[in-house]
Amino acid sequence: MRHAVFLAFGLFLLLLAPSPARAAFKMRSVTVNGQTYVFLRDVATYYAMRYAPQKGLTVLSSGRSRLDFTIDKRECALCGVTVHLSFAPTVWQTETVMSERDFLLLLDPILRGAAVPKQKVSRIMLDPGHGGRDVGGIGKLYQEKTITLALSRRLTEKLEKYGYVVNATRTSDVEVDLERRAPLAENWRADLFISLHCNLTEASEVKGVETFLVAPEGTPSTYSNSPKVKSCSGNRFDKQNSRLAYEVHRSVVAAVGARDRGIKHAQFAVLRSAPCPAALIEIGFLSNRDEEKRIGSADHQDKIAAAIAAGIVKYRQSMNE
Ligand SMILES: [Zn+2]
Repeated sequence: MRHAVFLAFGLFLLLLAPSPARAAFKMRSVTVNGQTYVFLRDVATYYAMRYAPQKGLTVLSSGRSRLDFTIDKRECALCGVTVHLSFAPTVWQTETVMSERDFLLLLDPILRGAAVPKQKVSRIMLDPGHGGRDVGGIGKLYQEKTITLALSRRLTEKLEKYGYVVNATRTSDVEVDLERRAPLAENWRADLFISLHCNLTEASEVKGVETFLVAPEGTPSTYSNSPKVKSCSGNRFDKQNSRLAYEVHRSVVAAVGARDRGIKHAQFAVLRSAPCPAALIEIGFLSNRDEEKRIGSADHQDKIAAAIAAGIVKYRQSMNE
């Protein structure tokens, strides 16, 4: 990245913010290989934070918040939560810069409720992964389809107590095609879509929680370096998706003390075709003996359900910030 040629240098006005000081804020930008980057120094000023570039790391901080950006790494920490950016921050001349798309679609909606488009959040479609012949991941003790269904039932109860209207893509052990799940949410006029899964990997020591949102147009998924070109239905809600994933992920990791594997971008079918803001949470690994026991227990599932519900409430409140 440091050897790349920056093609342009410009300014763009941020006109989204309600405060007069921010309304005419000039944020400098540079373009490299077709991607626009903004100066983290200006991002810091925008949020009234301190800008502290260090070797290999740039920290933005204020009394309440701290943002850690590692140079040339996509993984960053936003207020203690691990977030995988679409593009790695880098150094331009002596300035740390971050992708403008990451700033506008991910960072700003997470830090500032006014950047999240206001939308009704009343009808929530849950999506317990797998079902029927599609058992999903198989651990020593549990199958994924059983855990996701049990969690969906618990989460339904919690959300109904908050006054939400809740439905699910399946309420029993039946097979539901991946392609049918988003249309079920659409036909039911869902305001929010939450997909529930368990993780599996060959390395048995790997554990923790990760939360996915759909990759914005022109950005790569977390496990890829080549940007996807085409926009999809779920991209209408990029900003809402970022805040939703952040609130749900932060709430779950804190509530159960799980390892924070981060917020990630993916192209999963249910997220691509979502008719409303959507997130997919992987609540833990069936391939890790301790974690499998935990996510299979009623007590742990209840905690996760309560934490997801609390995260959704926070997401709704963020629109009134
Ligand atoms: Zn799954």
